[in-house]
Amino acid sequence: MSVQRYARQIRIIGDQGQARLAAAHVAIVGVGALGCAIADHLARAGVGTLTLVDRDVVEPTNLQRQCLFAEADVGSPKASAAATRLAAVNSSVRVYAEVADCDADNAERVLGILAQRPAVLVDGTDNFQTRYLLNDLSVKHGIPYVYGGAVAAEGASAVLNTGPDSPCLRCLYPEVPAPGTTATCDSAGVLGPAVALVAALQAVEVIKLVAGFTDRASTSLRRVDLWTNAWQGVSIAGLRDPDCVCCGRRQFEFLEPTRDASAPRGGRGRGRPVVLCGRNAVQLPPTDLGGDDWEGLADRLADRFATGSVRRAGQAVTVSLGDEHDGQPHEITLFADGRVLVTGTSDPERARALAARVLG
Ligand SMILES: [Zn+2]
Repeated sequence: MSVQRYARQIRIIGDQGQARLAAAHVAIVGVGALGCAIADHLARAGVGTLTLVDRDVVEPTNLQRQCLFAEADVGSPKASAAATRLAAVNSSVRVYAEVADCDADNAERVLGILAQRPAVLVDGTDNFQTRYLLNDLSVKHGIPYVYGGAVAAEGASAVLNTGPDSPCLRCLYPEVPAPGTTATCDSAGVLGPAVALVAALQAVEVIKLVAGFTDRASTSLRRVDLWTNAWQGVSIAGLRDPDCVCCGRRQFEFLEPTRDASAPRGGRGRGRPVVLCGRNAVQLPPTDLGGDDWEGLADRLADRFATGSVRRAGQAVTVSLGDEHDGQPHEITLFADGRVLVTGTSDPERARALAARVLG
């Protein structure tokens, strides 16, 4: 399609800015409400290559605000469903869908940092562990990090690590907030327009950085509460901390491999179950699902479970268990990368027991 489709935008960023967008690779981690809206903006703007990373499948409760998904996508991995939609929006954009849990072991690979260095790392996540991991990657590789978060009707965004004076996330918040001390979409709910606003703030900053207008990038931590009509911008220019563990001392604690379950900190570790924020679900670490016979997995499961209770959608197979086990319905989703997601519980041991019913 002709470059004419970008005519309205070129009036602002110019032909050279548009060419820079087309040549750029941007990585977005988390394809929930923020990630969907950011990816939609960037694909329409003509960013040439997008990498989308998400570990989860589309749920009915996502449709209220996650703008790339339709009812038919329920049960499909979010990264692939989003990529399909974006290909229809702008066929000239190359979209890599990574159905994976971005962690210390795989982050540099799934984000394409080694193969095709992203110009910006964009935060579409809902958890602080992944944000601190992204911050480590940002500083280690010298790639700007566009932070964003939203819950209830509140949100915040900031452009981090753009240069020698620009702080990183740990300059502002040295440690990960303790579990349970921050609101989640599950506990506080979330309004679609609030997330859309934060996503727009992030997307425009990405466009500025990529199109060559770094001098116009926001130097404030911006906070908004659309329910109380409060807007706030706090300057973070010059707040880089020379003693910062990450950008000052260049210790990348969240990139340390954590296969050892006794590892004290830094990432979640691939070997441990992860209770998913706001999801009443547990992700179990990769297991042996039959590996090379992934294509036949759905068929084998269909033989073992009642008709209609097995669903295959791209790189995910979901088995619906009734509520006969503990009075709660559960879904067990097996991903092609070997992870198992169990819904209807936040108890890792319960999740393991339920997964065992499906995996045999
Ligand atoms: Zn720092």
